[in-house]
This record gives sequence, structure tokens and C-alpha cells, in this order.
Amino acid sequence: MIIAMKSGATADDIQGVMDRIEQSGMRPLNLPGGDRTVIGVASSIPPDLREPLTELMLSLPGVDHVTQVSRAFKLTSREFHAADSIVTVKGIPIGGKEVIVMAGPCAIESSEQLMDAAKAVKSAGARILRGGAYKPRSSPYAFQGLGLDGLKLLRDIGGEMGLATVTEVMDQHDVESVMEHADILQIGARNMQNFPLLVAVGKTNHPIVLKRGPAATIDDWLLSAEYILNGGNPNVILCERGVHPLDRTYTRNTLDLSAVPVVKEISHLPVIVDPSHATGHAKYVAPMAKAAVAAGADGLLIEVHPEPKEALCDGPQSMRPEQFTELMESIRSIARAVGRT
Ligand code: PEP
Ligand code: MN
Repeated sequence: MIIAMKSGATADDIQGVMDRIEQSGMRPLNLPGGDRTVIGVASSIPPDLREPLTELMLSLPGVDHVTQVSRAFKLTSREFHAADSIVTVKGIPIGGKEVIVMAGPCAIESSEQLMDAAKAVKSAGARILRGGAYKPRSSPYAFQGLGLDGLKLLRDIGGEMGLATVTEVMDQHDVESVMEHADILQIGARNMQNFPLLVAVGKTNHPIVLKRGPAATIDDWLLSAEYILNGGNPNVILCERGVHPLDRTYTRNTLDLSAVPVVKEISHLPVIVDPSHATGHAKYVAPMAKAAVAAGADGLLIEVHPEPKEALCDGPQSMRPEQFTELMESIRSIARAVGRT
């Protein structure tokens, strides 16, 4: 439920509405933006309470009108927050006019490898360096990442190169330490419904990239985002990375590009696309990255490795630096063609 106040409503009127919502056992939220105050009810309202609560709200001084939020997700919904949300990371706005590219290796392997990747992606125009330190691998025998040593490399090299950084956090107990080392926390596809992890990152104010689970519906994905927003952290960036495919012969996943305009319509959160995990093959990354920008994505998350053949994780889908540079050039013209920069 959203209660729109009249433009002349006083601070007392607003407080009065907030108090009555609390007295009814629900949580009021004062929503920013616009020329007048809007108050949301951030709780699900029992069906039999909807009518009487609406009547009560309409009887209070300063209230203009009351709207029901039709969707299961509330804070994530555009009904709650009409304007696009912009998540700012070290002065970089994600969700605004500029298409932001995050790039780097799947896994941090060594100081030299990360530095080479950082130089390459920076000179091509990426603003954020990606690199995994805790890797969710299907096999327990596969390279699991460098852990804390990897995080330190990311912090040092990101700092030295003047790049913001993003890395995955897999365990709720690692949230503090990952936050100390990286500017954005990534919740991986496999953890999209790890609710204790969502609750833990919701208690921080750190920007979060929330990947879509491989078998998650759009509503499930937005409900996971809702956990983070409901915890008090509004800085969520959604990432489409492909869903479980009908056919794995040619691609690793199926990039659901229609999710971009759908989510931009029903939610105010920024949406980025990861064409690397979506396709699983470096040669298909460029066409899907370009399509993503044309479809309205606010950014891209791309795997780049100085020597993909030597990569300890996701080599086949990692672009070589020169391929990435070429891609960034075409992305610039596509961004311009769709009114972005
Ligand atoms: C990754 O970004 O390296 C990763 C593991 O991605 P996803 O969670 O989308 O599989
Ligand atoms: Mn990867």
C-alpha cells in the first residue's frame, strides 16, 4: 500500500500517517523523491485489513490518495519507487545514462594475472574490475579461488589502477571481510535464494550485484532483491546471466534478454547483463553484450583473462584483452544509438 500525501501536507500530517501504520502492526516507510511525500507500508497486509486500513488512511489529515501495490515484491517494485534508482559506487553511477562495464578474470589467480587483466580492461574503458576470490565450483576438486589472499590482491590492484571492484561473497560469515576488500559484493546465481546471505548483505549499505538464479523466475529474483532492500540496503544491482538452457550443445545457459525490459518496467533497480556465463563461449560474448546494451541494460559484467587458455576457471568464455577492446568500441556506438553514453 502506498499513501500519497497532498503537496501541502505538514510534518505532523506525515508523522500522523506513519504512527497509525505502526499502531496497526505494520512498518511505515517514508519514500524519497517527487514534489510530495509518499509513505509506503512495507509489510504484507492481511486481505481483511486492506479495506479498513485504506479507509483509515483516507480519513487522516494531509492524505491525498491510497494505491495498492499489486505485486508480491514491494520495495523493489516501480509502484513503490517510480524513478530509476542509481547505485553509486566510488562515484560511478550505475543505472543512469552511462552504460557501466565491469570486467576482469573469473578467478583471481596471481598478482601478475590480475594486474595484466586490470590494465587491459581499464585501457579499454571498463570502470570496475571483477575477480573472484571465493569460487562456487561444481566440483570440489576444481580450483576454489585464493580466498582472503585473492581479496587482498583485488583491493591492492583495484586501488593502484583506480578501478572500483566487484567480487563474489558465498558465505554470510565472510560478508564483513569481503566488504573490507571490495566495493561491490556479488551474490552468485547459485546463492540467489541463500536467504541468510541475503539478510546479511541487507544489513550493510554496500552495493550488491544480485545474479539471477539459473532456474529462477523474474518474480523470485525480485523477491530475493526484496530481502536486501527490506533489510535496509537499497543499493541493489540486478544481473541477468542466463537461465537453465533447453540445449547445452552450443551455449552454457540461455540469455534471457527479454528480462531486461521486463525488469526495467516493473522495478526501479539497475539491471546489468553477464554475457560470459550466459553463453559460455568467448566468441558469443560480443554479440550478446551488444544486444544487451541495445535492450536497455545499465551495464555489463564480462570475463576477461590475459591468457584464457591458461585460466583456472571459465577460460573458454573469457575474452582476450584485444577482443574486449574491440567489443568496447562497438558498445560505445550502440550505447549512443540508444540514447546512452
Ligand atoms: C562468476 O561470476 O564467476 C559466477 C560464478 O557467476 P554465476 O554465479 O552467474 O554462475
Ligand atoms: Mn566465471
